[in-house]
Amino acid sequence: MSSILVVEDEAAIAELVSINLRHAGFDVTIAASADQAQAAVDAVLPDLVLLDWMLPGQSGLALAKQWRASARTRELPIIMLTARGDEADRVAGLDAGADDYLAKPFSTKELLARIRAVLRRKAPEALDSAVEIEGLKLDPATRRVTREVDGTLRELKMGPTEFRLLHFFMTHPERVHSRTQLLDRVWGDHVFIEERTVDVHVKRLREALQPAGCARLIETVRGAGYRMAQRLVATAGGGD
Ligand code: CA
Repeated sequence: MSSILVVEDEAAIAELVSINLRHAGFDVTIAASADQAQAAVDAVLPDLVLLDWMLPGQSGLALAKQWRASARTRELPIIMLTARGDEADRVAGLDAGADDYLAKPFSTKELLARIRAVLRRKAPEALDSAVEIEGLKLDPATRRVTREVDGTLRELKMGPTEFRLLHFFMTHPERVHSRTQLLDRVWGDHVFIEERTVDVHVKRLREALQPAGCARLIETVRGAGYRMAQRLVATAGGGD
């Protein structure tokens, strides 16, 4: 389930938006100030932030700039919510690093469409679309992972963490992900979980992929982390 952090000091609006988002299947956390929002993000990185411009204390605009300047939150999908609708403010919001901008009042339908568009672009692992690499298919809706081997479709069994890890890898192929990044994006937490945990689950994921002959798609990049290859390349040693 995708997680959304709603940063809004007006309780009635925060509540209304949350009800609509939960109804649409999102997991919602509310923060009423920039400080609360920062604490929430420090604890668990959400898939997307709906950030109100006008907040007591630090503004949403300043918070967006701050997040963009930090390595951990640089890629965090942000949609700015605001009563301001004119061109100059819109440009300022996008300049601060917001991925999109929505002027109040907005319809739930429009909000959901904008959220899905930003997630599709920046965090496809948070959506339910099926993905496929080298015949390996992962369908988040049915939670099935399959691959055709010698004319027979095989279903690969794996635990929920391995499934999320594979989903993240498949939606961000070819890029090297550090253990810290994987903890943030797959586990949602880079502080309280040991980096070694990542290695344990990558090992289990490779074991789960082995029967379909595609364990080698998950590559170890020495000193950097892991990467999902987009092609199965034969290695000198052969096999998986
Ligand atoms: Ca406000």
